[in-house]
Amino acid sequence: MARARFAPSPTGPIHIGNIRTALFNYLFVKSGGKDNAMVLRIEDTDLQRSSTEYEKLIYEELKWLGIEWDEGPDKGGQYSPYRQSERLDIYNEYYNRLIAEGKAYYCFCTPEELELDKKKTACESSSPRYSGRCRELTNEQVKQYLEEGRPATIRLIIDPEKTVVFNDVIKGRIEIDSDTLGGDMVIRKSDGMPTYNYSVVIDDHLMGITHVIRGEDHLTNTPKQILLYEALGWDAPIFAHAPLILGPDRTKLSKRHGNTYIGQYREEGYLPEAMFNYLALLSWSPEGEKELLSKEEIIEQFRLDRVTRANPVFDINKLNWINAHYIKESPPERIVELAKPYLVKEGFLTPHQAEERQEWLTLMVSTVQERLTKVSDITSLARMFFDDQIAPENDEALMVLKEEGVGGLLQALKSAVEKVGEVDHHFCSGIFKALQKETGLKGKKLFMPVRVAVTGQCHGPELDKTFLLLGKEKLLARLEHVLNNYV
Ligand code: GLU
Repeated sequence: MARARFAPSPTGPIHIGNIRTALFNYLFVKSGGKDNAMVLRIEDTDLQRSSTEYEKLIYEELKWLGIEWDEGPDKGGQYSPYRQSERLDIYNEYYNRLIAEGKAYYCFCTPEELELDKKKTACESSSPRYSGRCRELTNEQVKQYLEEGRPATIRLIIDPEKTVVFNDVIKGRIEIDSDTLGGDMVIRKSDGMPTYNYSVVIDDHLMGITHVIRGEDHLTNTPKQILLYEALGWDAPIFAHAPLILGPDRTKLSKRHGNTYIGQYREEGYLPEAMFNYLALLSWSPEGEKELLSKEEIIEQFRLDRVTRANPVFDINKLNWINAHYIKESPPERIVELAKPYLVKEGFLTPHQAEERQEWLTLMVSTVQERLTKVSDITSLARMFFDDQIAPENDEALMVLKEEGVGGLLQALKSAVEKVGEVDHHFCSGIFKALQKETGLKGKKLFMPVRVAVTGQCHGPELDKTFLLLGKEKLLARLEHVLNNYV
């Protein structure tokens, strides 16, 4: 039975790297036995920067992506509470134990003293570290200082002679000399809150976590955590550090490269299954060639030991390709629902119209769906169905309107539209035959001027659908405008 956890800090929107960590944990848990469990733990010990808004956002984004957890603050579980700020009593218990066993001690050094230590040791060796001054304090001194109310941290004694060795599932064997770790490690801050390295160890142990899967930016923390496991007499879990995601210039993925938060992709109209598919392929690949994989297929094939060491590069073109695929595969009704907010925001429709014009919207979306990379593209593709007047979009389009016979053709179309009660399927299916008969024009010479006149473009969706979508009034307005201005 394996137990993994995702342990985000609710201090901001979720970064792509973090959500990939969540995904790998989830895939690892789901691809194993039925008894496996995924824990969601909220690491909110930085009280200043943590907020319940961000915690809520974490739940929302995970659910949106399709990542479920078995235990967490919102779900409970046998190791509750799952929010670190509610576990302070538990942390205190182990401080007391470590101090009683002589493995940790109170430190009353001032920031100035610590700064001086760092500078001094930095001159003597390559790694600055705490001198260990307060380790020498007598029990009486400690008692007295505490009574005086002096600010105190608690430090874990680190034996500088040790080499910490562990086998990372992804990175392989790792060896680190403990004298590079900065000296005796602070495990409780002077405000009484646990440090990350401390609370993470206590919680991972007490919550029965067997596998710690996280980003390689935590690799430097792992030896410290292992030393704490040893001090407490506990077995360390298995570690797997996933390589960081890079931007196209091979530096750490950041704002400069575009969207860095999962929520930004959601807002732009990327589909959750596309993100799920794409993020799974960052550092992991299935055995076969197939890259478009459903959640079930990914779960079935995922193996933690197939995660590569090389840093993956975030490739927006590949994500776009995957997203376009899933949009194409979706029923238009689904895309309509997702598209509505963009159409309303753009001012094309009122919220009321967005609900009333369901049938029209379904036809419109199905007409442009295969050209959508992301749902937000709907605003540029749908614009032509909303504007009253349109102009030829470029010289090529303008030239089409200047050709011989175009005036007569558009005039004939206009009269036909005027005569008909409604521009419906019946009208659309017969109109081109009638125009051909009347004007003698056919093929491109017939269709192209009409296309340009009603859409302004030389390329675009099928004309009969376009007619249906525009309806009688808009068709007339456009024909009139073009006849008066461009022909
Ligand atoms: N709260 C830490 C973070 O968000 C968790 C790291 C870990 O998984 O141990 O980076």
